[in-house]
Amino acid sequence: MRFSYQREVIKNIVCSTKSHPNADWVFNEAKKKIKNISLGTVYRNLKILESNGTIKSFHDSSQVRYDGNVEDHHHLKCIECGILIDTDIKSDYDREKIIKNYEFEPNDIEFFIIGKCKKHKTQTTKKNKEL
Ligand SMILES: [Zn+2]
Repeated sequence: MRFSYQREVIKNIVCSTKSHPNADWVFNEAKKKIKNISLGTVYRNLKILESNGTIKSFHDSSQVRYDGNVEDHHHLKCIECGILIDTDIKSDYDREKIIKNYEFEPNDIEFFIIGKCKKHKTQTTKKNKEL
């Protein structure tokens, strides 16, 4: 019972944010609800939630981030602030072709469209308008 409660709390933390948090952030949030929860418990539950398809994870630079949006989607990434924005762009690729042409077995795609978010883009846009 206790364990499923922990898992429920962790699931809700990941699914209630669009910030694509890492395990440390989830751990800090979880501590607010469950005082004596350990980082190991958080990791273990994140793994279970991922393996049963409740959440997804992906690599961003050297860290693993968790995503409550399990739909097939990719992210926009701002080079200024690092914010990750969900898009409805799908991973449309020819799996069979990759297997055949590259002798490579794909598990998943992690791609980011790199650029500048609304907040960081606006400044240059404004400046251009003034000229
Ligand atoms: Zn996402």
